[in-house]
Amino acid sequence: MTPAEHWTEADLILTGDPCEYGCPHSGCSHEMRMIARAQVHATLAGAAMSEDTRRLAAIRALLAAFDWEHDDRQLALEAIDRIADGGES
Ligand SMILES: [Zn+2]
Repeated sequence: MTPAEHWTEADLILTGDPCEYGCPHSGCSHEMRMIARAQVHATLAGAAMSEDTRRLAAIRALLAAFDWEHDDRQLALEAIDRIADGGES
């Protein structure tokens, strides 16, 4: 599975019926197992991401949170530079 497929699978599991046996209360062992499966897929998706993909995601997150009207553009560009160079933001 590709990272994207793992994400999709985790999302499908979490948005689907949490218990295939129709238990009347939430938090049954079937639901716990579903959540565990989704977590495994999410973990695999993250682990399978390349370093480049991680950097791109970090830059996108930074840009998404950036307020171009009020925040300091120079600081943002420096932060992007650091991420692109492989450092942390
Ligand atoms: Zn159940």
